[in-house]
Amino acid sequence: MTSEEYDKLLNRAFEKMPKLSAESSDFKVPPVDIIIQGTKTIIRNLSMLADRSRRSEADITRYLSKELAVPASAEEHRLIINGKFNADDLNKRIQRYFETYVICKECHKPDSHLEASGRGMFQFVCEACGARYGIKSY
Ligand SMILES: [Zn+2]
Repeated sequence: MTSEEYDKLLNRAFEKMPKLSAESSDFKVPPVDIIIQGTKTIIRNLSMLADRSRRSEADITRYLSKELAVPASAEEHRLIINGKFNADDLNKRIQRYFETYVICKECHKPDSHLEASGRGMFQFVCEACGARYGIKSY
């Protein structure tokens, strides 16, 4: 067998392997698209983050404002943060937002919503597997 043939065989074997939990691994948290204007940091793709998480722009704004401990507001689908922040820092926090508040810890799918449950808690409700659990609100 030539090495070319061997490669072909290998490729075919890989193609046949079942993809593990394709839906969850295909889900990517979108990276933030930011610009700094003066003393403010502006996330230009707020509507995309809201779409992917199925949370409102106001929800994401409130979360980041609390995380960063600075005022933030949503204006014309842009998230305006008081202060200068770099993309790495913001991406980590958005990643954590998705991991905690969007992606189900049982089935790892993003089809979920939050219900207020009082005392500083949300009830996380997974629409894919039906899991429900309490998480700290923001
Ligand atoms: Zn689930």
